[in-house]
Amino acid sequence: MALNIFRKKFPIAGPLMVITQSYVKAGDAIPLPPIGPPTRRPIGETQYNKPFMPQGTTHILVIEDEKRVADLIQRGLEEEGFTVTLAYDGLMGRKLALSPAFDLVITDIILPGINGLELCKELRQARPTVPIIMLTALGTTDDKVEGFDAGADDYLVKPFDFRELLVRARALLKRSSDRLQSHEGPLLRYGGMEMNLHTKSVRRDGRDIDLTPKEFKLLEFMMKNAGRVLSRNEIAQHVWDTHFDTGTNFIDVYINYLRKKVDKDFPDRKLIHTKSGMGFIFKEG
Ligand code: CA
Repeated sequence: MALNIFRKKFPIAGPLMVITQSYVKAGDAIPLPPIGPPTRRPIGETQYNKPFMPQGTTHILVIEDEKRVADLIQRGLEEEGFTVTLAYDGLMGRKLALSPAFDLVITDIILPGINGLELCKELRQARPTVPIIMLTALGTTDDKVEGFDAGADDYLVKPFDFRELLVRARALLKRSSDRLQSHEGPLLRYGGMEMNLHTKSVRRDGRDIDLTPKEFKLLEFMMKNAGRVLSRNEIAQHVWDTHFDTGTNFIDVYINYLRKKVDKDFPDRKLIHTKSGMGFIFKEG
């Protein structure tokens, strides 16, 4: 995005070095992107015949050892509003791809470390529904069959037109978003938390969290209002259908229950914060 603006202002500038924080090489600490605000459309709001547009932040992992190709894909996707993380080898790619933070994985087949077909098979086992697009220079029917057998949802032969990749990425993201809505129920996602409003299940970084019905309702209210300070009065009205009586501290008690279940194992990534004298806020950092 910034590059575009720079190019418009200085069209004759020479080659630009793009410094990206998403660059990952073997041995680096893995900068997992935060799982942003809900990327799913609100239920009831159906958009027909419109291209899929990411809502909130959609994270795409690109595993490609050809740096030039990887950078081109990253730039193109970022200009379309996606957040992109790059991995230049199969092992790092696999490590990252297993994280629920990514909504779509684009992987090359011939990679150092572990190849794209192997990676795809393992990823399918661990994350059966994550959409996967395979890129490859190989283009025979056999190769395609092998790619689909490994669990890829789509297959693109290099060199390809970036717009083709974009169309397919959007189609897969839309399909997986629709599937989540219809089969698994509406999901709230934020900062590694995933809350399913139909099955009433809650997970953080893929680990199940058991909540009582009241704790669930409290967390749901906080997640739906992530990033906003909620007063005790507001919480009492929405979660308990009552007005907050300053003589009691039941909301603080429940917030503490929730903290023990949600934040205890994540001392550096707390999500529930107290705003002194004002209330509570659910946010990252
Ligand atoms: Ca390659």
